[in-house]
Amino acid sequence: MKRTEDIFNFKAISDECVKCGKCIPVCTIHQVNADEVTSPRGFIDLLGQYQQGNLELDKNAKDIFESCFLCTACTDVCPNLLPTDMVIEEVRADIAQKFGIAWFKKAFFTLLRHRKLMDIMMKLGYTFRTCGFKDDIKRGGIIPRFPMPIIKSGRLLPSLSKISFLNKYPENIDNGGKRRVAIFIGCLANYNYTTIGDSLIEIFAELGIDAFIPKEQKCCSAPAYFTGDFYTVETLSKFNIEYFESFIDEVEAIIIPEATCSAMIKHDWEVFFNNRKMYDWAKRAKELNKKIFMATEWFEKNTDLKEVLKSKNIKFEDTITYHDACHAKKVQNIHKEPRALLSQNYTINEMSDSSRCCGFGGVTMQTEKYHFAELAGIPKAKMIEETKAKIVSAECSACRMQISNSLHQDNIDILFQNPVELIAKALKEGNN
Ligand code: SF4
Ligand code: SF4
Repeated sequence: MKRTEDIFNFKAISDECVKCGKCIPVCTIHQVNADEVTSPRGFIDLLGQYQQGNLELDKNAKDIFESCFLCTACTDVCPNLLPTDMVIEEVRADIAQKFGIAWFKKAFFTLLRHRKLMDIMMKLGYTFRTCGFKDDIKRGGIIPRFPMPIIKSGRLLPSLSKISFLNKYPENIDNGGKRRVAIFIGCLANYNYTTIGDSLIEIFAELGIDAFIPKEQKCCSAPAYFTGDFYTVETLSKFNIEYFESFIDEVEAIIIPEATCSAMIKHDWEVFFNNRKMYDWAKRAKELNKKIFMATEWFEKNTDLKEVLKSKNIKFEDTITYHDACHAKKVQNIHKEPRALLSQNYTINEMSDSSRCCGFGGVTMQTEKYHFAELAGIPKAKMIEETKAKIVSAECSACRMQISNSLHQDNIDILFQNPVELIAKALKEGNN
């Protein structure tokens, strides 16, 4: 079954499941909650029953369907290519309709739809953060000082930046004018991990590529998509599509240093509109795709960055290990490109299973179901530790948030860096 075929026909999808069980050992939720109902096969069977009227969408069913990490590991191994993650995304919209969306998620999605409001909240958060959190400067995070609703004490959360990436730089950065690309930064890199954007700017300067920072860009809508808030998905994706179209002919590409945002924009927008029979919007999203790339993919395929890095003649002593974010490798087949760039200046010690999901799982998993995220993070932290690397890297700030916390929980002294930060560091050292 193709991932874009009739996604609403849960019964047909359930009939196509041959119950082979190949998906079970790789399933992130099944690994931490070994129950048939929380497995891809179980989810699909329940969805078929739900559509036939044999299963009520009650609190128990809600609990089950909200326990999927949407990691896509099952779709990777399924002989019939059954899109378990996508049918769960759809049923979560039914759940949101029936039960409503928790107040804190509603508030968060409202902020995602209104960037100016989010800017103000983040500034306030930065100013008053020490009242509720203590800084962990080494890891670039903050830790709650006392028990809080929704956030478990002792958790490492992303720190807030004094100024967001979008507010820090001018709209146009001239590096010679021969080539010009736009940057879509993603919310975590805009407000929290802002050194990712700084690093991109440095790389463009080194390569002589003009950077365009579209100031009106909004969230890609992935957090809302995974939570079933389709109103927010439609609002944000339509806004961004119209906005991207207004400048797409003036840039060579739109570069995204984030796997989840890139997968949402390149893949899920089109699927979302096709599923709702908004074919014109689906077509417009597809048209934009030709110019949208993850950062390492674009640098590796469209620039001489690899040669530039090689020419610096630097090999750092600190070894790294590379985690394959689900939305990079499984959804977009991007895994060779970051390694090809990083291996010019770093020794990469591969972990035992770089594709195993880190356990981020989305807003619900990071809040109401944090106990599952915590459990799923333990084996990832252990395999990172076993490599004896000093740095773990992945082109995904959701993975960064989850993995940094998992390492912190286990007292493992390994730092997380986005590959573009490591590349910028190599360029800088090479120029000294
Ligand atoms: S998307 Fe991940 S967690 Fe969900 S059923 Fe598939 S493998 Fe399991
Ligand atoms: S791998 Fe596919 S066909 Fe086999 S049990 Fe899992 S969902 Fe069903």
